[in-house]
Amino acid sequence: MDVNRYFRMIPKVDLIMEDERIKELSAVTSRDLVLECTRKVTDDIRAFINGNPDKENEINTLIDNIIDSIILKVNKLSSYNMKKVINGTGTILHTNLGRAPISQEAAERAKDIVTGYSNLEFDLESGIRGSRYAHFEKIITRITGAEAALAVNNNAAAVLLILSALARDKEVIVSRGELVEIGGSFRVPDVMKQSGAKLVEVGTTNKTRLSDYEERISSETAALLKVHTSNYRIVGFTESVSIEDLSALGRKYNLPVIEDIGSGVLTDLTKFGLTYEPTVQHSIKAGVDIICFSGDKLLGGPQAGIIAGKKQYIDKIKKHPLNRAVRIDKFTAALLESVFHDYIDEEKALKNVPVLKMMKMNAEDIRLRAETLAQRLREIRELAISVGECYSQIGGGALPLEKIRSYAVCIKPETMSCAGFERKLRNLEVPIIGRVVNDTFLIDLRTVLEGEDPVIYKGIKSLFK
Ligand SMILES: *Cc1c(COP(=O)(O)O)cnc(C)c1O
Repeated sequence: MDVNRYFRMIPKVDLIMEDERIKELSAVTSRDLVLECTRKVTDDIRAFINGNPDKENEINTLIDNIIDSIILKVNKLSSYNMKKVINGTGTILHTNLGRAPISQEAAERAKDIVTGYSNLEFDLESGIRGSRYAHFEKIITRITGAEAALAVNNNAAAVLLILSALARDKEVIVSRGELVEIGGSFRVPDVMKQSGAKLVEVGTTNKTRLSDYEERISSETAALLKVHTSNYRIVGFTESVSIEDLSALGRKYNLPVIEDIGSGVLTDLTKFGLTYEPTVQHSIKAGVDIICFSGDKLLGGPQAGIIAGKKQYIDKIKKHPLNRAVRIDKFTAALLESVFHDYIDEEKALKNVPVLKMMKMNAEDIRLRAETLAQRLREIRELAISVGECYSQIGGGALPLEKIRSYAVCIKPETMSCAGFERKLRNLEVPIIGRVVNDTFLIDLRTVLEGEDPVIYKGIKSLFK
């Protein structure tokens, strides 16, 4: 077939722009955008014809659907890409899904602050310039027992800043068992190199003793560093130095002891039936000089790196030029104040902080919720629905061995593949993200937030009209 005959079948751009649906779309979006998409769609069809001149049916379909294709393209470009999704994976701190969700109350408070002016760096008492850390520094020190605190962009930035401020061109001693990698881009030796500090490894992968640190202390030493092995465990024939002993060694040689504790755990997790994770309070009490942790892991707040400890060091860190480059904005400051406010009273934290609420949820309650949702979904004849026991995870590189018993709605589509069903759920207006196990789609209700069960029902139902 002659390609020119096909080309002639493609309506002219001017004519397309006169189409009623296209005119309507131009009125609500932008004429330039619609024009651009029209040109792109017609160009794409021409390119397809050139490459596949014998595919008559497909060419005809493309030309017949030209208006729909343009509308789809315009809608894609003019709608928001970042969306709320439903987390049915059962992983509480899902890094790809934004780690810790923030409570409605905290978000409302932040909204009030960021939609207007605020006292971000203005001291209302004295009427002069204030500090953006003042809003939460006092609460942090009260909760953790530290003398001073600040917060930066994230915990990776916190480690970089601490080492840059306290150990540039000097040596920092770390155990070989603690040369952690978190999510590929955070590796202790690499961060150390960036800061200009020299890494001195001591001990072995499985055993490091206090004497290993002590033997390497010299006039070149600037600090002793302990890193929490958040996302892996060394088990069996092992030995590591406690933060108490390391802090005592630091005092003996007048060297600061730094601890990267990873997750900012402020509550005793054994209360949730989980393994004990070192708390910030415990390390401060043990005498650590500087501690840092993430804001959006087990603390349950916004992305941030919190640095707390002795005032003499915190002051030095606050004044370091790099601090300006990694500083937090007003959103983060407002959200940090809210989350720490909740921790003033542990009962309140357990009631208000979404991450803690999810960890605390009891499996039987989750089962009842799963049964209710399953019952509603059973009206969709194309699906085989059941409720099954499953295990939720903490995620976010915290407590890697921990599995929390939970329940999931298990969906086996009968008229399409499970992979196809999973893809359709991902493309819903409110996407539902779950897990596929043995050709069954699982929605673990532990991580499905309050009020989202009906949204799941509606979303799935909309696929079978
Ligand atoms: C998670 C983690 C980090 C990185 O924290 P971000 O807030 O993600 O930058 C650094 N160190 C340890 C030990 C961690 O667990």
